[in-house]
This record gives sequence, C-alpha cells and structure tokens, in this order.
Amino acid sequence: MVVEIENKCPHCGIITNRASSISKEDATPKESSFSVCVECGGISVYTAGLYQRKAFVEDLLKLYHEQKETFKKIVIASGWFQKLRQQKQEKEN
Ligand SMILES: [Zn+2]
Repeated sequence: MVVEIENKCPHCGIITNRASSISKEDATPKESSFSVCVECGGISVYTAGLYQRKAFVEDLLKLYHEQKETFKKIVIASGWFQKLRQQKQEKEN
C-alpha cells in the first residue's frame, strides 16, 4: 500500500510525496519508522510530525537487535537504491 506523505530526504534533499512499507502491507509511517530514499538510498527515521532525519548508528543498532528481518530489508533496499543511483550517474557521464 502506498501512502501519500510529503517528505524531504535529509541525505540528498529530494522531495518525495509517497511512502510504502517493506514490512507490513497496510503500515503507514509513524514516529521512529525507518525510511529508505528511492533516489539516493539514504536511511532516515521519521520524527514527531513525520519529518525525516538521517538515521544514527544507534538507531540502526537498535533496529538490528530488535527487528533483524526489517534491518536486513532496509540495508538491502538502501544498497539497491544506491546502486541504481550509481548506474544512473555513470550513464549521465
Ligand atoms: Zn535521498
């Protein structure tokens, strides 16, 4: 399910207007939810008010210890989007 929510990636600055969940079909972002930017692969965390900030190492360690499967999915998605961005940049040059 895709949720309409406007956000600005704190890593690359792109404005996004949608979010979808990788862990639950009907999940919507809430405070402390993680986000992976489709443009740069940057990992962020939703704050109160549903803004995004860059994820700290502590956030990722907590996720790793508490939700290993979600952690794996986020790391894989991040790597995948980073690879896509790299390929896009290589085509442009
Ligand atoms: Zn980004």
